[in-house]
Amino acid sequence: MTQQANETVPFVDLSIQWNQVHDEVMPDLEKLFKASAFCLGPWATAFETQVAEYLGVKHAIAVSSGSAALHVATIAAGIKRGDKVLVPAHTFIGTIWGLLYEGAIPVFCDVEEATGTIDLDDAERRIDDGVKAIIPVHLYGQPADVAKLMAFAERHGLTVIEDVAQAIGARYQGKALGTFGSMGCFSFYPGKNLGGAGEGGLVITNDDEKAAILRSLREHGQSRRYVHERIGYNYRMDGIQALVLGHKLKRLDDWTAQRKAIAARYAAALADTPLRLPAIVHGDHVYHLYVVRAERRDDLRAFLDERGVQTGLHYPVPLHQQPCLAEIVTPAADGYPVTTDWAENGLSLPMFAGMTAAQQDRVIDAVRSHFEGTRR
Ligand SMILES: *Cc1c(COP(=O)(O)O)cnc(C)c1O
Repeated sequence: MTQQANETVPFVDLSIQWNQVHDEVMPDLEKLFKASAFCLGPWATAFETQVAEYLGVKHAIAVSSGSAALHVATIAAGIKRGDKVLVPAHTFIGTIWGLLYEGAIPVFCDVEEATGTIDLDDAERRIDDGVKAIIPVHLYGQPADVAKLMAFAERHGLTVIEDVAQAIGARYQGKALGTFGSMGCFSFYPGKNLGGAGEGGLVITNDDEKAAILRSLREHGQSRRYVHERIGYNYRMDGIQALVLGHKLKRLDDWTAQRKAIAARYAAALADTPLRLPAIVHGDHVYHLYVVRAERRDDLRAFLDERGVQTGLHYPVPLHQQPCLAEIVTPAADGYPVTTDWAENGLSLPMFAGMTAAQQDRVIDAVRSHFEGTRR
């Protein structure tokens, strides 16, 4: 065996992206430090302009994390204590922190079998007069059913806040995700498709009034300096993050194309295994995560781990079963069969821009030999 064949295939390796931007970022950082532009500042303003243009939206408001983005969007949407908001049961908990901070009540919906995104037929069953908004999650890098979602929201008069933390650059009928609802929220956590050198987030909107409120909320509730119009937060993006993200954004489409090529290889090489593979159902997929579903998932995971292939779980404990929500929502024991399927059987294979063909082969070979072994 060659040296390389023994090396672990990491679940994600961010050093490859860093190496590509290093020579541009370092001299620019030097300038940022000389200017002491640490909190928002000119690099953040430039990044906001760049990302707004990239996504085709009027306003981009840079904040300190994806969770902060969703929190200020919740407030800007006018969601108040006791209001109900439809959300998928199958997502990262960051989707709902903003609701919980504001005293709003998440109403969990089951998800689609094929995509893991919010099931709007289930949402239809759970809606009542107390529901004011819906937060669809474009999970794993693929769109929720946007056409059905927007028709549903219109019919019930709901505000739509899109959680695009995993799907920057993904499109639906030619338009960037995040531009369909009232606001779209992004995360630049390092492991996301566009990741900073630390925490970061963004809200986008075409609504001038909401943009002004969001800008105020992220900076101590200021309307102008020293005047605090509303209770605000310190949710500013670091200048350093904006600088790094600006350089990385120029390469995002290239990195996304690499993710799509890896996914195509996995799909071709694993098609005849018993796995359920990701399906493109709503038009696009930027493969933040490549999540397969397997019977006896934990056995497969242990086998891959033994073979030096790291995997992830997204997400093994559904939101309606999280301990912190025990007093807020009444768990419907068997009300989420599809969420349970994703939680119990989902397994995320290694997926990152810059992943080598040899690493992809290692993953494919390991998965295939697991099933060849179990068939005997
Ligand atoms: C990452 C993520 C968030 C939260 O973003 P942070 O930057 O980690 O606060 C919210 N929703 C989803 C679906 C995410 O994947």
